Amino acid sequence: MSARARWVTLLLMALNSVSLSLLAILAPISVTTIRPQSVFAQAKVVDSAFEALKARYFKLKNTDLECRLTQDWLEAGESLHSYAAAGSTHAPAAFFLAGLIFERLAEVQQSDDLARRALDNFTAIINKHPQDEYADDALVRRADLLARRFAEVDKARADYLAVIHNYPRSDQFGVAQARLRAGNPVNKERQFVSEDSGALRVMIDPGHGGEDQGARGYAGLLEKDVVLDLSLRLEKVLQARGVAVRRTRSGDEFVPLALRTQAANEWNADVFISLHTNASLKGESSGLHVYYLDTAGDEAARLLAERENDVDSMGGGQSDVQFMLGDLMQGAKAAQSLKLAQVVAASLNALAPNNKRARAGRVGVKKAPFYVLVGAHMPCVLVELLFIDSPEDAKRLADTEFRDEAARRLADAVISFSKLAPAQHS
Ligand SMILES: [Zn+2]
Repeated sequence: MSARARWVTLLLMALNSVSLSLLAILAPISVTTIRPQSVFAQAKVVDSAFEALKARYFKLKNTDLECRLTQDWLEAGESLHSYAAAGSTHAPAAFFLAGLIFERLAEVQQSDDLARRALDNFTAIINKHPQDEYADDALVRRADLLARRFAEVDKARADYLAVIHNYPRSDQFGVAQARLRAGNPVNKERQFVSEDSGALRVMIDPGHGGEDQGARGYAGLLEKDVVLDLSLRLEKVLQARGVAVRRTRSGDEFVPLALRTQAANEWNADVFISLHTNASLKGESSGLHVYYLDTAGDEAARLLAERENDVDSMGGGQSDVQFMLGDLMQGAKAAQSLKLAQVVAASLNALAPNNKRARAGRVGVKKAPFYVLVGAHMPCVLVELLFIDSPEDAKRLADTEFRDEAARRLADAVISFSKLAPAQHS
């Protein structure tokens, strides 16, 4: 899928999840103002049948996190499939959504039959709509499912190779490449068990790195350096308390956002914590916020997420389709992510600035559509520790004692959270 299509759809999705009562009003307006004004685009837009199916999907997704209304999900999947099979305007998108629904149901019910129905929908896109923007995504979804559910490693490999050969400019190229490089994806997550059996597993994600510097702070302080150092301190504290730790980057290197959660998933981490520092771009704000993933953040959260997500344009990022998928996968974990965010915020509260600049209160738990949290199979949060471009905040961020205390408090939070929600990997 192209970068532009990605952003347009991401925005539409964010709007879709704002509120279902608003959906009917907002969706047609946003579509006509954002889409290119070609006759073709217009023709696509007025398909109210698809809009209704999509609305039904979003309603389920937003109200039934744990997929308990099996019959409703099944009917939504079947309706999308029938709509697509009739060769309707949005057939590929409808097949894709149907595929996602059956895939999720298969996971919840542990059902091979449902997994096969997911495969059928992805296959329909691959065979009937190979030029469509969903074709590359369908190949990766099908391959992942074949490998994980049915242990069909050769077929999965063929699909990943098809992405590389047939869709070299697709955003799925890097994903397919990474899957092939990782080798046999079957039960990959089990291979590390021996090294830290039984221990709580924490994946620390120091934001940015390499050519992606993150926010440029007061007096030349760089976000990528501050968060890497903080991550190293946090790692030490956690390890000293018997926690197994990995980092998404080891030094000053560029790591695509998609590969960060992927690493956490493959290791079967219990917690994913992404560390950042905020910036107001004018140096006027101060504060400390803990975010969990949600497509329905407020305007300020959306703008922040846009800045943190911007690295996506550097390649290796995620598509809106993966975003939708990741959102769905967080599903049952969303409540735990909120809990984790609350525990982290409570622990960091004492570090929050208490000055006029900290307009948004002391410590806030917020939701925002951060790409780096998308697709994580475990509770995950993103911490924006102070504003690096505020003179007062930057002074504290540069102080190693402050970093040590932040690391200690983050470790406290992760450990008390794990006692609320025992490790699930073993
Ligand atoms: Zn950042």
